[in-house]
Amino acid sequence: MSEFKVTDRTKVKRGNQRATYDTDTVYKIIDEALVCHVGAKMADRPMVQPTIIWRIDDKVYIHGSSKNGLFAALVKGEEACITVTHLDGLVMARSSFHHSVNYRSVMIFSKATEITDESEKLYVLNEMMKQITPDRFDGVREPNQQELKATSVLQFDLTEVSAKVRTGPPVDDDEDLALPVWAGVIPVTTVMGNPIDDPLWLSNHGKK
Ligand SMILES: Cc1cc2nc3c(=O)[nH]c(=O)nc-3n(C[C@H](O)[C@H](O)[C@H](O)COP(=O)(O)OP(=O)(O)OC[C@H]3O[C@@H](n4cnc5c(N)ncnc54)[C@H](O)[C@@H]3O)c2cc1C
Repeated sequence: MSEFKVTDRTKVKRGNQRATYDTDTVYKIIDEALVCHVGAKMADRPMVQPTIIWRIDDKVYIHGSSKNGLFAALVKGEEACITVTHLDGLVMARSSFHHSVNYRSVMIFSKATEITDESEKLYVLNEMMKQITPDRFDGVREPNQQELKATSVLQFDLTEVSAKVRTGPPVDDDEDLALPVWAGVIPVTTVMGNPIDDPLWLSNHGKK
C-alpha cells in the first residue's frame, strides 16, 4: 500500500478520521469522476471552473479552449486547487444539526504543465476519450491540427493530495436516539441514461 506524503497543507484538520492518503483510494475517486473543480487566482478575482478530469498514472489532465482565462493564469504559474467530489448519500439524522452527507472527495494542490508536443497532446486527449466513453473511441474522427491548436491540455502532478471519505449512518446524540423521527441514509448515485439519437444521425442513417 502506498500513500501520498502528508504536507502542512494536505493535513486534514477537521474530520480527520475521514482522511486518507492511500494512492489507490485517491486514484479510484479520480477515475470514477467525470468532473472536477479547478480553482486558482486570476488577475482580478478568484475563479473556480468545473471541467472534465482524467488520469494517466500519477498525473491528472484537464483540457479546454486555448483562450480559457483560467488556463492562461495556470500556464503563467498560478497554483491550482483541484477538487473531485462524489456525493454518495444524504445522511438523515434525528436532529437537524447532525444531518450530513456521505461522500468521497479528493483535493489536489499542483501547478500546471501545458502539453505542447502535438503527439503527446493527441495521446492524452485520446486517453480522455477512452476513459470517459470506453466503447466510443474507435471510428470517431481524431482532432485535426487546427482543433489541436485550439485546445489547451494541462497536466498536474499528483503529489500534494488528500482524500476524505464519509460512509455510514448518522451520528446522533444519545439523548436524541429515542426521538420518533426516521434516521438513515438516502443513497445518491449518478447513472447514465438511455442514449438519445441525434436527429441528424437518424436522417443520415435511418433507424437503427
Ligand atoms: C459533497 C460534500 C459536501 C460537504 N458539505 C459540507 C458542508 O456543508 N459543510 C462543511 O463544513 N463541510 C462540508 N464538507 C466537508 C468540506 O469539504 C471540508 O472537508 C470541511 O468543511 C473541512 O474544512 P476545513 O477548511 O476545516 O478543512 P481543513 O481540515 O482545515 O483542511 C486542511 C486540508 O485538508 C484537506 N481537505 C479538506 N477538506 C477536504 C475534502 N473535502 N477532500 C479532500 N481533502 C480535504 C485539504 O488538503 C486541506 O488543505 C463537504 C464535503 C463534501 C465532499
